[in-house]
Amino acid sequence: MHSHHSHSGDYVAHGVDPLEDIVAQVVKMKFHTYCLTEHMPRIDEKFVYPEEMEGVENSSEAIDRLKTNFEKYLAHAKTIKNRPNEFGTKFLIGIEVESCDQNHIDFAKKFIAQNAETIQFCVGSVHHVNKIPIDFDQENWDRSLAASGNNLKKFLIEYYDTQYRMLTALKPLIVGHVDLYKLYLADEMKLDPVTGECGEHGVGVGSFSIMSQWKSVRDALIRNLKFVDSYGGAIEISTSALRKKLKEPYPSKDICKLVEQYCGGRFVLSDDAHAVSHVGTCYDQALRYILDTLTLKEMYYLAENDDNDVFLKSIPIADFKSNVFWKSNYNIEI
Ligand SMILES: [Zn+2]
Ligand SMILES: [Zn+2]
Repeated sequence: MHSHHSHSGDYVAHGVDPLEDIVAQVVKMKFHTYCLTEHMPRIDEKFVYPEEMEGVENSSEAIDRLKTNFEKYLAHAKTIKNRPNEFGTKFLIGIEVESCDQNHIDFAKKFIAQNAETIQFCVGSVHHVNKIPIDFDQENWDRSLAASGNNLKKFLIEYYDTQYRMLTALKPLIVGHVDLYKLYLADEMKLDPVTGECGEHGVGVGSFSIMSQWKSVRDALIRNLKFVDSYGGAIEISTSALRKKLKEPYPSKDICKLVEQYCGGRFVLSDDAHAVSHVGTCYDQALRYILDTLTLKEMYYLAENDDNDVFLKSIPIADFKSNVFWKSNYNIEI
């Protein structure tokens, strides 16, 4: 089994367990390939999270600490990658880019190039819309929507435009949690189905199909997927949404159908773990999603050649579902 996206409490403030404990769990669970993908250090003080202020005097010190922590992460990741382990799990070294704003995206390009000897690939994510985080809490999500005039359609177009700016700058091999915005998108929220304005009246988000109703949003997503297809990238199916009690993983079925149509159906699996208990979490639900809901014929994962260069490799669904992981962790035999 594989995960293409993970963190640890050693290197991100909201992470829980030490990297060594996470790695031990990965090996115990018999992962074939597990990718370590700590966040790229943020460069602008305005993007420091409250929990990152602990133990420092000011946000400038917090920014400095992000940088030194990341250097420590790269050294630690190299040690893990190069040492043998009991199951023979392959560890790959990546980086997650958050796309806080254009400066961050531009810096990411330089930063990845500077560390190209160690960083094997990039998970391209968008965590900010209108420079406000959308996965931190409801209050920030609401502020981010308000910055788009409380108009969900405009907000989503801004999200996919930011994603496009990140994609064209970085060509990330893995695109992270494509519909992250749904984390705090409440089913009860009311909106005007034509204009996208949110308020007291209109239809509930829960009964509204964004991708089939809003062509401008769908077109923005399709443009992005076609671009990912043009350089051969893949879309992650992330179980972190299930861990956070959403109904579907990232991305939802309607988006996955567009991935099949416009991005060669290249999906990889990720847990986006921040703790030992997150390793391979909800993978049983993800398996059902892949087999029954999406009926995929193949999955992909990152492999590496002798020069440490990574590339996407296809695995037929029959091999994917007969992997030892399912029996030994979930007692599933198919
Ligand atoms: Zn992320
Ligand atoms: Zn992440």
